Amino acid sequence: MKAALTGGSPAHVPQHTSRPAMPMLHSLPHDQSDDEKIAAIRHHFAKIMEALGLDLGDASLRDTPQRVAKMFVKEVFSGLDQRNFPAITTFPNTHGYGEMLVERNISLHTFCEHHFLPIIGKVHVAYFPGDRIVGLSKLNRIVKHYARRPQVQERLTVQIAEGMQEVLGTTDVAVYIEADHLCVAARGVEDTKSSTVTSFFGGRFKDPVERKDFLEAVQ
Ligand SMILES: [Zn+2]
Repeated sequence: MKAALTGGSPAHVPQHTSRPAMPMLHSLPHDQSDDEKIAAIRHHFAKIMEALGLDLGDASLRDTPQRVAKMFVKEVFSGLDQRNFPAITTFPNTHGYGEMLVERNISLHTFCEHHFLPIIGKVHVAYFPGDRIVGLSKLNRIVKHYARRPQVQERLTVQIAEGMQEVLGTTDVAVYIEADHLCVAARGVEDTKSSTVTSFFGGRFKDPVERKDFLEAVQ
């Protein structure tokens, strides 16, 4: 699916509704307002705290259910609402720049969907511009949007790549993620040394030469 991009076009929102990558969304009522979601999460998070034996009458804990609920809906999981996809305008590639554009070391903060613990790392992205280019900060915003969901690193990698492909109107996109999973470091095997690398190579990046150039640029 290619984006139909025109001069100064306003927000372009990739439609991922048919993707099997997000089965969890299908069971959620999409018409719930943020306030309704926050109220529901506040209620259930208070139950979790009670089950753990925490005293919700304590001044320090009293507002935690509301704080967590608001943080989930408005911040760390706001990317579950595709309406929050960033507004992205593309510009004509007037200089005819045709080489690889690499943006390195985009900060990654997301949450593993199996344990709801943080995944922290770096994302490197690249593309070959066609007729249109995009403001660089928009690449960060695409990464941030998909990171603001409970994730597995494999799916996050593909979603960032497909989001870029759609916005940029090209398949020539590469994504490389190196991240530490706190569910591996802080519990379970408690391995604090290991990190996880995932990558996506689309279009021209399937060529071993372009792929090598990209990997050399980001390492
Ligand atoms: Zn996990």
